[in-house]
Amino acid sequence: MSSTTTERLQGADARESNIAAGTALADAIGTTLGPKGLDKMLVGASGTVVVTNDGASILDRMDIEHPAAELVVNVANNQATKVGDGTTTAVLLTAKLLNKAQKLFEKGLHPFRVTRGYRRASEVAINRLDSAAITVAPDDERRLRDAASTAVTGKWDDNASATFADLAVRAVRAVETDGTVDLSRITLRPVTSGGLDDSTLIAGLAVDMESSSTSIEGVDLPHHIEDATLALVDTELTIDESNAVSNVSVDAPSTLQALREFENDAYAAKVAAFVDADVNVVVCQKSIDDALRRALASEDILTVERTRQDEMHKLAAATDGELVTSVDELSPKTVGDADSVERRHLGNTDLLVVTENRDSQHVSLLLRGGTQHVVDESKRITENCIRVVTLTVESGQVLPGGGATELRLARELRDYADGVDDREQLAVRAFADALETVPQTLASTAGVDPIDALVELRARHHDGDHNVGLNTATGQPQSMVDSGVVEPLVVKQHAVANAEEAANMLLRIDDVIAAEHEDNGDETSGDHASHDHGSGGYPWAIGH
Ligand code: ADP
Ligand code: MG
Repeated sequence: MSSTTTERLQGADARESNIAAGTALADAIGTTLGPKGLDKMLVGASGTVVVTNDGASILDRMDIEHPAAELVVNVANNQATKVGDGTTTAVLLTAKLLNKAQKLFEKGLHPFRVTRGYRRASEVAINRLDSAAITVAPDDERRLRDAASTAVTGKWDDNASATFADLAVRAVRAVETDGTVDLSRITLRPVTSGGLDDSTLIAGLAVDMESSSTSIEGVDLPHHIEDATLALVDTELTIDESNAVSNVSVDAPSTLQALREFENDAYAAKVAAFVDADVNVVVCQKSIDDALRRALASEDILTVERTRQDEMHKLAAATDGELVTSVDELSPKTVGDADSVERRHLGNTDLLVVTENRDSQHVSLLLRGGTQHVVDESKRITENCIRVVTLTVESGQVLPGGGATELRLARELRDYADGVDDREQLAVRAFADALETVPQTLASTAGVDPIDALVELRARHHDGDHNVGLNTATGQPQSMVDSGVVEPLVVKQHAVANAEEAANMLLRIDDVIAAEHEDNGDETSGDHASHDHGSGGYPWAIGH
C-alpha cells in the first residue's frame, strides 16, 4: 500500500516553484532552437531511440511531473495543434517570461504589475506583427518554398528538406482554389523502396495494396484501365456458405454435388452483379474470397482487398461513388468513375493509382526511402511543410524569421515602454528582453557569440533594417527576406499570445499543493522529508 502526505506552497514559494519548473524546461529545449539546434537523443516510450532537434517531439517524450512544466508543455501542444509550428519559440518565450518575472519580483515588483505589464506588451507586440508582415500571393511559389524550408531545415537531412518543401508547395498548389486549400485531396503515401530523392508528386489518389494479393496464378490482370468503373465494398466479399451448408447436408455424393452447384450459382450471381453494373475494379475494405477473385478476374475485373477505411472514403470522394455493403446496392449512383486506374509496383510496394475525371482532383506524394523509419520521418517533415504552406497560402502573410521579427518587436516595445507607468514598464522591457532570447539562442546554437550577435543585430535594426536576423547557415546577420527565412504570420501571433497567457497564468498561481506520494517500494522509503518536487512528488497547482 502507499500513503500520501501533502505539502502546501503558497505565495512567493508557489511562484518560485512554478518558475523553477518553467525555466528548467527552457534549458532543456532552448538548445534545440533553429536549424543548427542541438540534436537530442531520446528514448521513446517503447524503448526506441530517437535523435531530433524538434521541440515538439522532445516535449512529447519528456517525462514531465511538475504541473507548471506540464502547463508549459500544453503551450507546445496548443501551438502544434493550432498552427503546427513555432513550438520551440513559444516554449522558450514562456520560460523566459517566467524567469524574468522572478528577477522583477526580487526587485520588489508586485506580481500583479508584472502580469499586467506582460499582457500589455503582448497586445502591443501582436498588433505590431501586422505591419511587419509581407504579403505573399498564393502563386508565389518561391516564397511558399521559403516558408516550408524555414519550418523544416535542420530537422533532418538538409537536401531532403528542400525536396519535401518543393513537393509540399506543388501539392498544395494543386489542391488550392481561390486561396483555399482542400487538404483532403492530398494523400501522403510512404513507400519503403528507393531513395528520398525518388519521392514524387503524382496526379490521382494512390491507394496502398500492400496487404492485398492482386496477382492470381495463371491470370493476367489488367495493369491499366481507362474509363474505369469502381465498386467500393465495405464488407467481406464471399458467398454466404452458412446458407449453403444449412440448405444441404453433406453426406452423400449427390448432396456434395448439389452443394457445389449451389456455390457455383452463388459465385455466378455475385460476378453477374458486378458485370451488370459495368464494374471493372472492385475495392473491398475486408477480404475477398479466393474463388470469387478468380471468378472476377476471368471477367477482367481487378480486385483490391483489405483497403483501409480512410482510403475507402477518399476513393468514394475521388470517384464520386459510395461505399456499399452488398452487391444489391450496386447502381450507377453508387459505383465510382475514374479516368484511369493503374497498378504500379514500386520496390516492394503495390499501389493502385486512381485518376479522376472531375474538376477537384487528388494528388499523391509518394515518399520513398529505404526503411520504415526513413519514410515515417519523411512523412512527418512533409506534413509539417504542407501545414506551413497551407497557412501561408490561406493567410497570405509571412514574417522574416531568424529572430528578425523578435528584434523588431523588442525595439518597438522598448519605445512603447517609455510611455508606461514607471514600475510596469519594467515588465514591458522584460518582455522585450525575453523576445530577444530568440535571436540570441539562434546565434549560440549556430556557434556565434550570442552577445556580439545581439549587439550587431540591434545596431542594424536601429539603422532601420527591420528584416535583419541571424542567418544560421552563414552565422551572419542578414536580411531574412533575401535569405528566404520566413514564417507564416499566424505562427508568430500564436507563439506570442500563447507564451504570454501561459506565463501569466503560472505567475498568478500562488498556491501549490504538493502531494508527496510515498510507496512501499525501496527507492522512496523514508525519503519523503525531501523538498525536491521534481522527483517523486505529485504536486498540484491551484490557480485563481
Ligand atoms: P521548432 O519548429 O523546432 O519548434 P520554431 O519554429 O519555434 O522551432 O523556431 C525555429 C526558428 O528557427 C525560427 O525562429 C526560424 O525563423 C528559425 N530559422 C529557420 N531557418 C533559419 C535560418 N536559415 N537562419 C536563421 N534562423 C532560421
Ligand atoms: Mg519551426
